Amino acid sequence: MKAPIAVYGSVWPDELLAALETRFACHVMARMTPAETAAFFETAAAQVRGVLTTGTVGIDAALAARFPLLEIVSVHGVGLDAVDIQALHARGIVVTNTPDVLTEDVADLAVALLLAAARRLPQLDRYVRAGHWAAKRPLLPARSLRGKVAGIYGYGRIGQAVATRLRAFGMAIRYFQRSAGPEPALRTASLQALAAESDYLLVCTPGGAATRHAVDAAVLDALGPDGSLVNIARGSVVDQAALVDALAAGRLGAAALDVFEDEPNLPPALAALDNVVLTPHVGSFTHEARQAMRALAIDNLLAHFGGRPALTPVLP
Ligand code: NAP
Repeated sequence: MKAPIAVYGSVWPDELLAALETRFACHVMARMTPAETAAFFETAAAQVRGVLTTGTVGIDAALAARFPLLEIVSVHGVGLDAVDIQALHARGIVVTNTPDVLTEDVADLAVALLLAAARRLPQLDRYVRAGHWAAKRPLLPARSLRGKVAGIYGYGRIGQAVATRLRAFGMAIRYFQRSAGPEPALRTASLQALAAESDYLLVCTPGGAATRHAVDAAVLDALGPDGSLVNIARGSVVDQAALVDALAAGRLGAAALDVFEDEPNLPPALAALDNVVLTPHVGSFTHEARQAMRALAIDNLLAHFGGRPALTPVLP
């Protein structure tokens, strides 16, 4: 008998869902009407043994409780802040995510954002399109990278991949995280100390309670008017109101952001600023990374229901 699974999120193409149907009895939540969802929870949910979800949609304890036979939650993505790991592990449920396969592409975006902020690419694009070049309007010079300090907050897989790239630009690397990490000599004593030493502060930690608003007004002030913030991690890590204040007042030079506190909503005051570069949470949104993420998320389910250990379990 095919194991019943509930599929959440909208990252699953039709042909993949069709292939998934050959292995599992799939309940595709995004395709259900409200009435069908209600009927599903009345009856079929009690038999569901697996959940396939995304890092953004996640699964909380209340939802998981509606699946009494749940054995595995396979998450498409590496960020687990929307997944109640503790509640799932307390029930003995296996949780998996998709690390590594997205690392390089997310690091590429972090560097693209840093370059866009440093070289003021969006401003230059607007300048040319508006005809300011031909009109000989004054233009602000950009900032070079060579000899500058990149401070990486969270020196894990993505943080280290970012460092590899930035070293090629002649930048010095410093980092802060709780553990010593792979290059303890480069670790600063605190996030604020990191910001004070850095020209560019790159946020590469997980989201969640432990990092919520860690980048606050004091950290932004330590980064200073010549400093730039790059966030490819989670919007929750940065106090967005404090960021808008600092940028508007010129206490912070620039920000390049892929993630926001209330996605997809942005405060108008942030979108109105000239010294920001904004992308819509697309760190892993390449053909290659997304294909690899989908494959790994499904392979984790196949391994589990095939009686083998999951490939990339999240440890308690
Ligand atoms: P990772 O390998 O687990 O690295 C995370 C690093 O952050 C670790 O070195 C960890 O070191 C540090 N860290 C964790 N909690 C911390 C805390 N409370 N204070 C300071 N440092 C802390 O994860 P990754 O694969 O690099 O991914 C990092 C994050 O990027 C993900 O969690 C996700 O939210 C985000 N992400 C975003 C996108 C996007 O589309 N924009 C795509 C993928 C991932 P310690 O444990 O020693 O502190």
